[in-house]
Formats: sequence, structure tokens, C-alpha cells
Amino acid sequence: MSARVVVVGSLNVDATCYVDDFPAPGQTIAATGFQLALGGKGANQAVAAHVAGADVALLARVGDDANGALALATLERLGLPTAGIRTTTDAPTGVALITVAASGENTVVVAGGANLGWTIEAVDARRAHLADAAVVLTQGELPVVAIERCAALAHEVGARFVLNLAPPVGVGAATVALADPLVVNEHEAKALGIGRDLAADAALGRWLEAAVDAVAAGTARSVVVTLGAAGAVAAGGAGTHDASARPGIAVSAPRVRAVDTTGAGDGFTGTLAAFLAEGRSLHESVRLAVAAASLAVQRRGTVDSYASRDRVIEASA
Ligand code: ADP
Repeated sequence: MSARVVVVGSLNVDATCYVDDFPAPGQTIAATGFQLALGGKGANQAVAAHVAGADVALLARVGDDANGALALATLERLGLPTAGIRTTTDAPTGVALITVAASGENTVVVAGGANLGWTIEAVDARRAHLADAAVVLTQGELPVVAIERCAALAHEVGARFVLNLAPPVGVGAATVALADPLVVNEHEAKALGIGRDLAADAALGRWLEAAVDAVAAGTARSVVVTLGAAGAVAAGGAGTHDASARPGIAVSAPRVRAVDTTGAGDGFTGTLAAFLAEGRSLHESVRLAVAAASLAVQRRGTVDSYASRDRVIEASA
């Protein structure tokens, strides 16, 4: 069954240099490898939702340049419709300059470019695309006014508003309160005051309590916190009451050999949106998203690491 997910999202081209060690300020070093590929949280999440079987519309902005052409060609190769991608002559396609050290750590500098042209008017101009959305999904990489407008329009058309507040930019509390769910990793959660006092190795159960508290405090309609190799927790929303009547669920990630965790969070969020759009419960959708993300970390790359719907369903069984 396909259901409509509209991603109002960031789209970048990722320029990734693989290095032994990060360069010091003023130092020039040779990369051990290089890759130019589609990125940006919005584009990644749209691909993940598409691979998970949703009917996806990605609304994004690119510049009239070679990076924009690369992004469009990649989306076409992956089978995503590109009718919602607007090419602007005002700004270049967004670029993320990434270095990945041999240790696996990375640094990222994002030049937002055309993504920064998302204004209230730009969102309103795309309003027709939202008409039959089951889920409207956006991320912290867009300007705050655009995120807030997306929430309002999602509410107007009766779609579920899923907000991945990454990075945790200063979106108004009234907008975050509409999120169903708010999806954040542990660092973003802490920046928003969720689980602020928890230790780095806090158990899933403690994070579940923090997420339940956040929903009780009205932070968002429901809250999902992703916790890397540990898995994820979810609170609020239909379907998150377990047999012990706790108003939330904790899902442990399977123990796998992770070779590349880039884009794991985006794979998680896109998959979650796809299954929610089908009408599955938050509980079931989080279980499927954890399964999808743990498959993705076992493969290199970002959009090319996302596993098919059938494999995700099989892995979560
Ligand atoms: P982000 O990439 O946004 O920081 P996380 O690191 O929390 O997000 O990862 C998102 C999801 O990816 C996790 O909830 C988990 O399901 C999966 N994941 C991440 N790292 C691993 C890992 N090493 N092993 C298994 N699953 C992982």
C-alpha cells in the first residue's frame, strides 16, 4: 500500500574527503579518497521513505548549477519524482563539505545555498503539493519560518506533522508542540531539554522516561529519541502503550557490525514517516525504523545504503 509522504526538505551535495587525520588550521593534507553525492537531511529522508514503499513528494530547492544537476540525476536514478524540485538562479545548490577521519569521526560544514531561500511565501507557493499528504515531514536544516509554516499547513490539510529537529534550531514551542512525532538524536534531545541530565551511557529505560516526561509536559504530541547503537525510544501517540501500560516503548537495535553510520538517522526518520503514512502505529513504525537503520549502517554510503521495504519488514519480524 502506498501512502503519501510530503518532504519539505533540505537538499545538498555532499563533498566528502576521507583522511587519515583531520588537518590542523593552516595545514594542507592529501585525502585518501573523495566522493561527491546527493545529501541533505530532506533528500536523504525522502529517499528512505521511497525505498520503504511510500509515495513520496520531495519539495526542495537547488541552484542552476552542476551540483543541482547531479542531485536531480541521482533522484531520478533512485526513482523519485523530481517535479517538486525548484531550480533557482538566486543561490547555488547547498553544499556540505565533509571530512571523515580513519577513526570514523567526521567534521561537516554546510553552505545552505538555495535551501535558505525557503520563506513563508515559498512554502505557501507549494501548498497544492500538500493537499493529499498523510504525513508532512521537515527538518531543522530549513529556515525556522519555513518549518513553522509547514506545521501550520500540515495542520490545515489534516496531515500528520513529523519534525526531525536536526539541528535543534530555535523553532517556536507552539510548532514543536504540533510534532507527532518530534524525532531527535540524544544530543539534539538534550539541547531541547529532553533527558538533559542523563549520562552518556544512560539505559534505554531512562531515555524512555525522559521522552514520556516531555510528552506529558506538552513539548510535542509524541517524541522519538534515537540512541545510536542502543536503538530508540518513543512516547505518546496511539500504539505506544505496552502491555505494562507504560505510555511509551523502547526498541533495542540489533547488534550489528556498523561500517558507516552516515545518514542512519535520516534512514530512520524517512522509514518512520513512510510507515506512519500507511496508518501503522508509532510503536510499530519505530520498530521498523530501527530495523531499517541497523541495515543501513552495515552498508557504505547514505542514500545507497537504505534497504528495501521487504528486507526491512523481514528484519523487524
Ligand atoms: P544520528 O545519525 O541522527 O545521530 P543515531 O546515531 O541515533 O542518529 O542513529 C539513528 C538510528 O540508527 C538508531 O536509532 C539505530 O536504530 C541505528 N543505528 C545507529 N548506529 C547503529 C549501530 N552502530 N548499530 C545498530 N544500529 C545503529
